[in-house]
Parts: sequence; C-alpha cells; structure tokens
Amino acid sequence: MRIWSIANQKGGVGKTTTVVSLGGLLASQGKRVLLVDLDPHGSLTSYFGQDPDSLDRSLYHLFFEQRHKDKSFIQSVLKPTSLNNVALLPATTSLATLERQVSGQEGMGLVLARSLAQLWEEYDHVLLDTPPILGVLLVNALAACQRLVIPTQTEHLALKGLERMVHTLRMVMRSQNRSLPYTIVPTLFDRRTGASLTTLKEMRRNYQDALWEEAIPVDTRLRDASHEGVFPHQLDAGGRGVRAYRHLLASLEQAAAAEGGG
Ligand code: ADP
Ligand code: MG
Repeated sequence: MRIWSIANQKGGVGKTTTVVSLGGLLASQGKRVLLVDLDPHGSLTSYFGQDPDSLDRSLYHLFFEQRHKDKSFIQSVLKPTSLNNVALLPATTSLATLERQVSGQEGMGLVLARSLAQLWEEYDHVLLDTPPILGVLLVNALAACQRLVIPTQTEHLALKGLERMVHTLRMVMRSQNRSLPYTIVPTLFDRRTGASLTTLKEMRRNYQDALWEEAIPVDTRLRDASHEGVFPHQLDAGGRGVRAYRHLLASLEQAAAAEGGG
C-alpha cells in the first residue's frame, strides 16, 4: 500500500484538488484508492456530496475507544465516491475539537497509520488531504505516509507558507526519528502573469531537488469538476489541468519506484 500526504500550511493552494485529481487518475489505472479527509473543514468530504456537519461516523471516531483496531468499524466509516474503486474516509467538523480532547495521550499520533494498516489488503493507494494547521491531524498524516506532496501556489506570498511547511516537516521528522521524501508542486500557474514566473524562478533557486519540474496550470475545469462532485478526468480527460496532473503522477510514481516502493 502506497500512502502519500498532500500538505501545506496555507489554504487555497490546491491540496484538495491535487488529492482528487491524483486519486481519479490512479483509479483510472485500475488502482484501488482510498482518499482520507483530515481537514475539519471537510472540503474533500463535501466534494463528494457528504455533509461534514451531519455524518455520524468519520475519521474523528477512530481516535476513541481503540476503534482504529476494529477493521469492521473502520470499513463502516467509508463512503463511496463517483468511481467505484475510490472510497472516502470522511471528515466531520468535530475534528476541530480533537486536539483539545486527545492532546498528551499516548499513541494519538499513530491512529491513522494503525487504521490504514488494517486496510492493507483492500487498497493499493491512499491519499491524505490535510488541514493547514500543525496539530495532531497533520502529525498523524506525516507519521502514516511514505511521501509528502506540497502544492504551492505560484504567487509570492505563498513562498512563506512553503518555507513553514518544510520547517514543520523537519521538526516532525526529527521528533519521529525518521525522514520523509517530499515533492513541491507549483500550482495555479498562470504563464501570462509575471508574478507566476518570478515565483517559479525563486522556488527553483531555493528548492531545486525537491521541486517538480513542471507546474499545474490554472484550469477552470478543475473548479467545475468540484462543483459537480466528479473527478476532473471524468469531466475533462484531455484538459490542461488533468494532463498536468497525469505528468505529476508519473513523476511521483517514478520517484517512489526509485526509492523502492514508497
Ligand atoms: P486547498 O485544499 O489547498 O485549500 P483547493 O484545492 O480547495 O485548495 O483549491 C482552492 C480553490 O482553487 C478551489 O476552488 C479549487 O477548485 C480551485 N483550484 C485549485 N486548483 C486549481 C487550478 N489548477 N485551476 C483552477 N482552479 C483551481
Ligand atoms: Mg482543502
């Protein structure tokens, strides 16, 4: 099972869009995919027509009463999406209170990793959509995954967020005594604006090795897909956005294969 986190401590940079786009493309290759919503806002959950205010089971409930060890409970939380080989582990807004409820309790950073271990045989690929705050949820995601993908808007103010995310990654990895490969993905790239190009150059200068060599362009069809609750490739398989995500997926898979699996 291959597990990737999609994270950036800045909102609106394309995290959820990246999760849905990569998930849809993996499914179209025949992979069995699980998408996990760790964001209390529940955007990924809403994307597929589920209501994060009214679901009675979500990721939140796995943090209590040892439910992360109960495979049938975990499966009962999962929801279908518009593709039958893609499932969603939804969020509820109650996730916002998790920090206060579990902080300081032993083992709380490993709940997601342990839950996913129960689903080892059911899924080939898991994508984790994360909240923009450093807390127990982001720590769970980083502990569970084998790679971090950092979507970063190609706009000057976004560079600060990228810096913060890379710093957080180093800090969490030090505390977990491991390291995690990461890939920075320039998003919402608009080649007509000087700002996009300048920011991209600056990213190249500061993060050469970790930076994906292409960029995800602004493509309104990606936004349209989210309104319709379908995967972008279902709406516009040949569009610029989907094409860019297809290149990104190939590049991430190549990197994972070179590292030996992750
Ligand atoms: P995040 O999860 O980081 O908050 P989202 O993926 O929700 O970011 O994206 C924020 C908004 O921008 C959404 O409305 C989404 O549809 C839109 N969006 C994301 N990527 C693109 C893109 N490449 N082109 C056009 N719109 C995009
Ligand atoms: Mg999001």
